[in-house]
Amino acid sequence: MPKVTLMFKSRDNLYYEFFIENSDVHIMNTLRRTILAETVTLAIHDVYINQNTSVIPDEVIAQRLGLIPLRVEPSELNLTEEAAAVEPDLKRLYKLTARLRLRKINTEDATKVTKVITVYSGDLESIDKKTLRPVYDNIPIVKLGPKQEIDLECIAKVGRGKDHAKFSPVSTVAYKIMPTLNVKDNCTSCGECVNACPYNCLEMELGKPVLKSLGLYNCDLCRICVRHCPEKALEIEPNNRDFIFRIKLIGQLQIDEILDQIDAIFERKLDYLVDKIEESINEYLKQTTQE
Ligand code: SF4
Ligand code: SF4
Repeated sequence: MPKVTLMFKSRDNLYYEFFIENSDVHIMNTLRRTILAETVTLAIHDVYINQNTSVIPDEVIAQRLGLIPLRVEPSELNLTEEAAAVEPDLKRLYKLTARLRLRKINTEDATKVTKVITVYSGDLESIDKKTLRPVYDNIPIVKLGPKQEIDLECIAKVGRGKDHAKFSPVSTVAYKIMPTLNVKDNCTSCGECVNACPYNCLEMELGKPVLKSLGLYNCDLCRICVRHCPEKALEIEPNNRDFIFRIKLIGQLQIDEILDQIDAIFERKLDYLVDKIEESINEYLKQTTQE
């Protein structure tokens, strides 16, 4: 069974590093792709512009609004419900929407010294969900000159990263395969490989180069050390068994919510696969008994 250890967690709970032992590349890749493309978040999808006298066209403002990450508490809107859903259901999707409003006017007198104001994501107000808010309040949307005005309503809908990148809850999700070093008997202990490594990953121990602690963490398998060995005595390969898994969240979902969704998505997909296999076996058996 794989063993998972939390190696690092940033103070803002947005960056995590896990050390995963005894797993496999395809499992890491499934995890990565599911987090990136299958998890469900909420993002602005439709924008109704009542008034826009700024210099920015409506379409550009709508595009900017769509890219603002939104957070809603699961007690008010359960996104895992959508992640676990087998088929699209309009009733459920309608329930999983939220409305926001943005109204701002620059009341400065145009005849006086020009004063431009900036409208930020923090100026968005939720209409029907108490806990809905932009993850960051300081994303600029539009600048308003004197007497200019913006007045619009937005509908936020649920979606997945595979529909549009704005729904993805992570800015980075990646894994690094741990290296394995093999030093052959013809090593002359010259130390050239140690000097050649650009990240200082190698050190000499009992006359042989070794990868230890930070070296193991930093090695990116560039193989510069291998190319510098005059005796061709060094081999370094990915072990395809141990990994460092890194996740940088944007903030729409917390790490435990992402894990809950992955659980639901895997279960749904496996159930679907098992059902399909059972169906095809039953179909085959039916045909053979008729013959
Ligand atoms: S593969 Fe690259 S990073 Fe790793 S030990 Fe060799 S030179 Fe250093
Ligand atoms: S460069 Fe080659 S021969 Fe020299 S210490 Fe490294 S592995 Fe040994």
